[in-house]
Amino acid sequence: MDSEIIVRINKRYIKKYKEGYPLIFKEAVNNIHDLKGEGAILKLVDDKNKFVARGYFGRQNKGYGWVLTRKDEAIDRKFFQNKIITALNKRAPFYFDEDTTAYRVFNGEGDGIGGFTIDNYDGYYLINWYSKGIYRFKDIIVEILSRMVVYKGIYQKKRFDDGIEEDDFVMGEKGEFPIIVRESGVNFAIYLDEGDMTGVFLDQREVRKRIRDKYSKGKTVLNTFSYTGAFSVFAALGDAKSTTSVDLANRSLEKTTEQFNINGLDLDTNHIVVEDVFNYFKYAAKKEMKFDLVILDPPSFAKSKKNIFSADRDYKDLLKEVIDITEDGGVIAASTNCASFNMDKFKKFIDTAFVEKGKRYRILEEHSLPVDFATIEEFREGNYLKVVFISVS
Ligand code: SAH
Repeated sequence: MDSEIIVRINKRYIKKYKEGYPLIFKEAVNNIHDLKGEGAILKLVDDKNKFVARGYFGRQNKGYGWVLTRKDEAIDRKFFQNKIITALNKRAPFYFDEDTTAYRVFNGEGDGIGGFTIDNYDGYYLINWYSKGIYRFKDIIVEILSRMVVYKGIYQKKRFDDGIEEDDFVMGEKGEFPIIVRESGVNFAIYLDEGDMTGVFLDQREVRKRIRDKYSKGKTVLNTFSYTGAFSVFAALGDAKSTTSVDLANRSLEKTTEQFNINGLDLDTNHIVVEDVFNYFKYAAKKEMKFDLVILDPPSFAKSKKNIFSADRDYKDLLKEVIDITEDGGVIAASTNCASFNMDKFKKFIDTAFVEKGKRYRILEEHSLPVDFATIEEFREGNYLKVVFISVS
């Protein structure tokens, strides 16, 4: 970390970085060819060679690195430690909450260092690394984390490709998966040794709670793109009349069954359908099936045998199919984690879908990321989650 690369910021972008924008774009750098060796510290300067910010080189999606500070300070062990301690302190209320034992403790740029996240699954800490660059700081970050928290084990996932296969287990005690964590008093089976997904998306905690506490009692619930059925389990625990979980992946049958089982729920009124959602919509429309609550949480991009779905292009049409199978007076919980459009645009998709269907609607409530998924004002695209509860009339 001792040598640093001088990065000359294009005039047009200086203001942006001075105001705190954290992601370093290729277009913003005049001397992009000087960027060599991911993990290198970058000193951003203006056209008069004056200090603007300091960051690191790491390629991730559209970015070439992250700004870490706008003060002329060193990026050293102490720097990382301060950020991690501050992040851990912010999550203090979670440590005492026995009903929720899984939550995010460090959220990349939202906690001051873009490129990695740390989640706590009941004492098993999982670090996701999003670039080769941040991975160069692994030893420091793991060492600091291991000193600051009481952990059973530390796991990692490399979400970038450097061609090197590495164990997901880092240190401590190996977990016997599934481990059972709790969220709002509900059990989840978690696997930290099965690829990128762990069994639950922690960012939907508040939405799941709302579905259980406010929207499910006595209702017929359809959960589309259901993965392990997390929303369905909450609906069932909120006394839904029935739940139907639809996901294309074969694993979803076993995984969803497991989530119901560990919550003492039987499958008599909780149906699991392994099928392409788009086929299911056609089937349901043909059978004139209607649901009181439809949960819609597709991936931003998905490819199946017959369909390619891209949220920014196709969400509106997807909604139109959902409107067809939602009861009058029913509710659609429409969700997307697509970072390429914001809440305003999402609401426009919703509006257009209803206008084109000639149906009326009302927005009941909106959600974005929960507090543990810290975000910053200067990087709005970091707040990718958009959930809207819509009443259909
Ligand atoms: N809503 C889930 C997470 C969804 S993850 C939750 O809250 O836990 C996206 C899921 O969509 C994956 O499980 C994937 O298998 C599924 N999927 C992708 N394309 C699909 C399609 N065309 N039909 C049904 N499921 C699909």
